[in-house]
Amino acid sequence: MKKGYFGQWGGAFIPEVLHATFVELNAEYEKARQDPAFWQEYLDLMGNYSCRPTPLTFAENLSDYLGGARIYIKREDLNHTGAHKANNVMGQGLLVRRMGKKRVIAETGAGQHGVATATMAARFGFDCTIYMGEEDVVRQRPNVFWMEKLGATVVPVTDGARTLKDAINEAFRDWVSSMDNTHYVLGTVCGPHPFPEMVAWFQSVIGIEAKKQILAQHGKMPARVYACVGGGSNAMGIFQGFFADDGVELIGVEAGGKGIDTDQHASRMCGDRAAPGVAQGYKTMFLQNDDGQMLDTHSIAAGLDYVGISPILSDLGEQGRVRFEAATDTEVLEALSLTMKKEGIIPALESAHAFVQAIKEAPDMGRDEAVIINMSGRGDKDIFTIAHAFDDPSWKEFIIDRADSYRK
Ligand SMILES: *Cc1c(COP(=O)(O)O)cnc(C)c1O
Repeated sequence: MKKGYFGQWGGAFIPEVLHATFVELNAEYEKARQDPAFWQEYLDLMGNYSCRPTPLTFAENLSDYLGGARIYIKREDLNHTGAHKANNVMGQGLLVRRMGKKRVIAETGAGQHGVATATMAARFGFDCTIYMGEEDVVRQRPNVFWMEKLGATVVPVTDGARTLKDAINEAFRDWVSSMDNTHYVLGTVCGPHPFPEMVAWFQSVIGIEAKKQILAQHGKMPARVYACVGGGSNAMGIFQGFFADDGVELIGVEAGGKGIDTDQHASRMCGDRAAPGVAQGYKTMFLQNDDGQMLDTHSIAAGLDYVGISPILSDLGEQGRVRFEAATDTEVLEALSLTMKKEGIIPALESAHAFVQAIKEAPDMGRDEAVIINMSGRGDKDIFTIAHAFDDPSWKEFIIDRADSYRK
């Protein structure tokens, strides 16, 4: 198979001027991959700066309540900055240092990848510019605040719909003129080769740990592994630990939004709004209309609200190795409430999608079977969205009071 392809998916559709940069990146990545000292350096960094290995928590109360399979939760929320995104950005930071580059750029929609990249840049001493649609800059003020305080320059992009897609174009424009000293930190297992493969490699640490932990705690492999799927990096991270065992079913849960039979969701593998296409440097399933125009997406979880999906997951879905499901916004809030009350754990809205499907299926499974939910991140960041969705009256009052105190 051609390098960078997964079945018919993937590739590297890049402008000619970036060719040399991709040659350099591919070479550095291949070298790192073959160097056991690099992986050790990565593990040391993640052990001392983040929280690796993250625990695998047996959700005893939730399992008893549902009365079926034993539910285990892989705690990526305990990473530095609160999600699995740290695994990717810190890994790329080590590569950037190897390449001798001094500046990183990234694009971000919800802002989580921007915060993670700004954090990495501060730690490594890189200059950092984050591109963000002007619309998103307004909607995600807390994340913009942290990026700036961490030392990054946030550039609001005023083209097009002023959201993620436009920020991606602008970041590529920057890279074309700055590639000699600049690396583009892609945030998920998408984009042109080698990004899908490289980001999957950094995230594979999740699955390597989870497999060891479930064998130690449960004595055998899990029956099913659940992960939410935006671009697909946390899902690829945990799935890789279980690919080799056909007995482990892998389930990717997408954003069902208001329902996959409506036009307000972000599900590429369920429903019928996605088709094969080439955009943003790679071939995958994109949410698009008959003219190839990208569609508007919706999810209560900003991190799952994306038009494309990893080419690796397009392939695994086509092969039937990964089963795809979709969870609606309403189901997500229910699963979130249940998990908080039963376990004292607050999943991110993204991660709660994986909880929805596990909670649906666990009761029909045997008491001797185990499932793992990859909890990609913590929900603290979602307090505005969650409090609004629960229509919490005292929260509303708090926000109004705060606003008033600034007007005085
Ligand atoms: C960004 C994010 C996601 C979605 O990204 P993937 O690449 O699909 O993993 C999921 N969960 C959390 C908590 C995130 O921050």
